Amino acid sequence: MTSQTTVKTLLILGASGDLTGRLLLPGLARLVATGRAAGLRLVGAGSDPWTPEQWRDRVRTSFAASAESASPGGLRALEDLEKETVYHQLDVTAGGALASLLTNLEGPTAVYFALPPRISQLACEALRPDQVPAGTRLVMEKPFGSSEESARSLNQTLVRLVPEDHIHRVDHFLGKATVLNILGLRFANNFLEPVWNREHVEKVEIIFDEDLALEGRARYYDGAGALRDMIQSHLLQIMALMAMEPPSSISERDLRDAVSTVLRASSVPAPYAASTRRARYTSGTVAGKEVPDYAKEDGVDASRGTETLAQIQVGIDNWRWKGVPFILRSGKAMGVKRKEAVVTFRPVPHLPKGFTGVDSPNQLRIGFGPDTLEFDVDVNGPGEILSLSRVTLEAELSASELLPYGEVLEGVLTGDPLLSVRGDTAEDCWRIVEPVLKAWQQDRVPLEDYDAGSSGPGELSRSVRAE
Ligand code: NDP
Repeated sequence: MTSQTTVKTLLILGASGDLTGRLLLPGLARLVATGRAAGLRLVGAGSDPWTPEQWRDRVRTSFAASAESASPGGLRALEDLEKETVYHQLDVTAGGALASLLTNLEGPTAVYFALPPRISQLACEALRPDQVPAGTRLVMEKPFGSSEESARSLNQTLVRLVPEDHIHRVDHFLGKATVLNILGLRFANNFLEPVWNREHVEKVEIIFDEDLALEGRARYYDGAGALRDMIQSHLLQIMALMAMEPPSSISERDLRDAVSTVLRASSVPAPYAASTRRARYTSGTVAGKEVPDYAKEDGVDASRGTETLAQIQVGIDNWRWKGVPFILRSGKAMGVKRKEAVVTFRPVPHLPKGFTGVDSPNQLRIGFGPDTLEFDVDVNGPGEILSLSRVTLEAELSASELLPYGEVLEGVLTGDPLLSVRGDTAEDCWRIVEPVLKAWQQDRVPLEDYDAGSSGPGELSRSVRAE
């Protein structure tokens, strides 16, 4: 498989960082090994005085897994990239430092800001538009800003430098295959779209429960929490794909317009004590492993009250969805891992007399990673033909051969912002969650607790799978 890269050089700022070593370089390796980044040059930069060999070692280590399974051609491509990669020491916030590096690279260049958000912002502010060569792409990590206002100000800084379609705000949560699976399911099946509305849908839940606990990431996570970390940046994007109007084409313009329109219509209804929940895990056992109390973890400031589980109910004010709750939830250290969207349909208006058993509402479940589809339907039972029983129709959806960050990078290198979050959408996602964050800061919603390894605090929204 080959694809046309429009970018000649990938410049990674934050060469020594965690994201670069754990996710970016391995994602790049798979992309290169499958022949999709022919001719690309890789340049690392950071504030450490690394020798070229130190950087090359890091690249080699991160490429190792892909190199093992690569074809001879793929292996050659990985080795070439590794051999030619260079490292530059620079303080990206120092006036002129990044600018002079950019003019010395073979363009077009994609600049990946794998830096703490504050440093990325300072680095962009230090650049003048005339110092950014034409065709440069800027790749910004999450969190993008920390409020609607700061996201807007960052957007203004960026569009001074390059056009909006050259800015990639990374959302690695949904890979391309998953996005297309949702759109294919919704818009290529005539039986589904006519019932995809308030007349037939009772509620939609979008759930990301992970069994991982803090895993030593207090420095980042304790300042963020589940609402900012997962719901603001990722689950609202899934909600938009589930709720948007049919686009005319799968182009970035049509898709991102539709995403933006539905998010503009979305908000969390007050009072927030009724529409939101927040909780923090205490000690417990997850998959046989002892997990300490979150509040006692190294680097955690318990008085901050950071939530490790957040649930919000979003309302969409438009003709299709008015009154249908979209429930978004993410929790850490949960007993059961779940990453799925569940659509619960309304009950039938009249069940013919004579049937016995329970007529449960139909549910459609779309699993994200692995991508699966399950549909719970009521059918006549075996033996007693009038007694209803429940069956689940299951299918596996297609998966990508790339890692999530490989998909992100492929979009960047081929100049396709389809999977990137557009500027107005980034601002809107903050607008939706900001009143909730404020209510939580003011303790208008109690901080509950749950045992690590449990299913969270009581009475959470949960749609249980058919037996
Ligand atoms: P780290 O703290 O591990 O790395 C940050 C990097 O920035 C280091 O290489 C550091 O180099 C470099 N740096 C800091 N200041 C400067 C400067 N003035 N000039 C040049 N380089 C500088 O952060 P992460 O890798 O974890 O995160 C990077 C970004 O990715 C963040 O925005 C984060 O939110 C996002 N992200 C991270 C994820 C993860 O799993 N790690 C997941 C999703 C998003 P040095 O140490 O030499 O100063």
